[in-house]
Amino acid sequence: MTEYRAVRGMVDILPDDTPRWQHIDSTLAAVLKSYGYSEIRLPIIESTALFARSIGEVTDIVEKEMYSFDDRNGDSLTLRPEGTAGCVRAAVQHNLVATPQKLWYTGPMFRYERPQKGRQRQFHQVGVEAFGIATPDLDLELLLLSRSMWRALGIESLLTLELNSIGSTDARAAYKAALVAYLEGCKDALDEDSQRRLTTNPLRILDSKNAETQALLADAPEMHSYLDDDSRADFDRLCELLQAAGLSFTINQRLVRGLDYYNKSVFEWTTTALGAQGTVCGGGRYDGMVAQFGGRETPGAGFAIGLERLSLLVDTLDEEYQEAADLYVVVADESAQMHAVPRIEALRQERPDLVIHMHLGGGSFKSQFKRADKSGAALALVYGESEVSGNVVTLKPLRSGGDQITVPDDELLTRVNAHLGQN
Ligand code: ATP
Ligand code: MG
Repeated sequence: MTEYRAVRGMVDILPDDTPRWQHIDSTLAAVLKSYGYSEIRLPIIESTALFARSIGEVTDIVEKEMYSFDDRNGDSLTLRPEGTAGCVRAAVQHNLVATPQKLWYTGPMFRYERPQKGRQRQFHQVGVEAFGIATPDLDLELLLLSRSMWRALGIESLLTLELNSIGSTDARAAYKAALVAYLEGCKDALDEDSQRRLTTNPLRILDSKNAETQALLADAPEMHSYLDDDSRADFDRLCELLQAAGLSFTINQRLVRGLDYYNKSVFEWTTTALGAQGTVCGGGRYDGMVAQFGGRETPGAGFAIGLERLSLLVDTLDEEYQEAADLYVVVADESAQMHAVPRIEALRQERPDLVIHMHLGGGSFKSQFKRADKSGAALALVYGESEVSGNVVTLKPLRSGGDQITVPDDELLTRVNAHLGQN
């Protein structure tokens, strides 16, 4: 017999945890709505070339993390490793970028990485993308929006904002050359990954986790000495705006992000509460991407939240998101159940907000009341023989310890309202 297990790094979210996930989903959706962002739903599969071009051929994602395969037609397709590329593709394809757009999406992403706490091969993101606004008031809004999300979830104090500007493509090229020239001088002291990146993607050396490499970087040229005037002005303005809005941040000139499409401002929200996987949210500007995808020159900016890490963070609050049952319907036998069903269906129509468990599968009153207790219901509705013949129902409090009452069927709704409160 084969024992089937989920594929490594692909995680089941079980019923004990889904209430917390639902709470996060609905809280984020409400905040996004309140800022005027619209949801877009995108395919999970895109052409491989889309990711290779936008994320960059020599990034970790494209070099070694993508789930790519040829379909029956021989076309190379990829399970999306992130959402920005597909969102930009859709915006260009449907000409959404003709006017400013504020969009968001949510769903699974796929990267072939080493699974650990906060790092999976199938993980989930909420992504936010805005097109058509070049000025830093958009960057500010994205950061305020993310802060509002942390506030709404009660985790604002657990997160800090790191901010950088990586400048224009030209400025970055000039800085890259200076960085490479400096690091060539101490090449042998670099870790192996960084030595390789020296020729492929030198900026990524800046966020090497290796302590010796980090020490060497202390004297490296600084990114901000190479910024173009436009990027510098926008960055200064953004810092000013953030200060005026009371949003605190630290500038981290080594913050580069792992994807090639960014320019100007980039940021990460990080936490110390989750160990090594501390980045909960990352984003920035990508002004060249729409044109790169064949659209007309349109600035863009956005961010993505890692929902597994966010969920772990929300879990540290130790709050209960599971909604307890309200009613548990206990029935003497099959015919009592037949009698109860239409009455309970009518009640459901009046009170769709209530969680009502109809006892299924038969069994003694004793075993049914055990289940009723376990369900956490506040009240049992009992249809015994005498209730059925008398067209009445017995309401038995399970939590509050009050007396049970037997009432005519047509009083069920008012009695339930009286006991549980009106919606
Ligand atoms: P990291 O440095 O942790 O690998 P990243 O820079 O690759 O992150 P992004 O591409 O910016 O991540 O994605 C945005 C967010 O998505 C991350 O900050 C993180 O919270 C989450 N994320 C990325 N990869 C994974 C993963 N494999 N498992 C779970 N969450 C992830
Ligand atoms: Mg990564």
